[in-house]
Amino acid sequence: ALQAGIVGLPNVGKSTLFNAVSNSAKAQASNYRFCTIEPNVGLVDVPDARLNKLAELVIPNRIVPTQIEIVDIAGLVRGASKGEGLGNQFLGNIREVDAIIHVIRCFEDDNVLRDEGAINPISDKEIIDTELQLKDLDSVERKIGRVEKAARTDPKMKAELDVLVQCKNHLQQGKSIRSLDLSKEEKTAIADMFLLTEKPVLYVANVDEPSMHTGNKYSEALAKAAKEEGAQIIIMNNNIEAQIAEMEDPADRALFMEEYKMTEPALNRLITSAYKLLNLYTYFTAGVQEVRAWTIHEGWKAPQAAGVIHTDFEKGFIKAEVIAYNDFVQYGSEAAAREVGKLRIEGKEYVVKDGDIMHFRFNV
Ligand code: GDP
Repeated sequence: ALQAGIVGLPNVGKSTLFNAVSNSAKAQASNYRFCTIEPNVGLVDVPDARLNKLAELVIPNRIVPTQIEIVDIAGLVRGASKGEGLGNQFLGNIREVDAIIHVIRCFEDDNVLRDEGAINPISDKEIIDTELQLKDLDSVERKIGRVEKAARTDPKMKAELDVLVQCKNHLQQGKSIRSLDLSKEEKTAIADMFLLTEKPVLYVANVDEPSMHTGNKYSEALAKAAKEEGAQIIIMNNNIEAQIAEMEDPADRALFMEEYKMTEPALNRLITSAYKLLNLYTYFTAGVQEVRAWTIHEGWKAPQAAGVIHTDFEKGFIKAEVIAYNDFVQYGSEAAAREVGKLRIEGKEYVVKDGDIMHFRFNV
């Protein structure tokens, strides 16, 4: 599964969020900053209203959402790029994720330790950004050193060097690579470095309880900064989310959420947004046994999409029966869609669309 990594300064509520998110792994929330040296990984269901709608129509035995992996990357501190506080190890963990969830403290609480003076979401964000940028600068400069010589004679390497120099200048201005306007080819030229600041980011403003619906002055400042980057921000209270997640009885949950005037956990919004950040597509299989969501990338063809279910489906692929999501919902069943000609037979070259309901035919 694709991974989103939770990052942020110590004691901003990362572990609390991870606890809420994770339905398998468990992290210990505590005031002790290095309590989680190994990254914690949890798998989480991705909420999808379309999946629920299909299930309503098909009434299957089982509903299986798609999942993403959430990794709690603790221990990032000022100076991490210089190896401070096991910094390099944590930065290495970030290199492996597909997207970043950056938690920022927007709550006041004298009982929760803080090294960076008064609450200041903008400077907190900048501390982390700077560490990631310095680490990227290091990667870029090293690569420049490696290609410089060859670039004098090889035009292809010269083009690559030009991109690297653009990256270097951008980083030196305190900017992240994701905000650098690069063409698809230019991006390919730097893909092998897995730059940290190229990864898509989502900000979580961890606010106190009274502000969970409205936000506060801190989350407003953060929202402004996020907007300038074209990034999304989610306002939530991680403590409340962790409490909801702990309740096993749905009735208790409902009551608790009602008390806090919530229609659903903010976590659902977070997970859905993180999934969107990854630029993924979802297709569905819908049978009486199970209605299920499957994750693919934009542009994948039918056999490759079938391979997500089982490699045999890809190897022995013959054809796919496809119904568009809207058609399925409009006609209410596979049979009804077929009757009006909305079930299409597609071959190996079919590019799967987001929301397609697929049924694969294959040789074994
Ligand atoms: P991490 O170091 O970023 O992983 O932070 P933790 O999740 O361990 O949280 C540090 C402390 O802050 C814990 O004592 C949490 O209970 C507390 N905390 C987390 N979120 C909130 C919040 O929204 N409000 C308040 N007041 N405390 C919080």
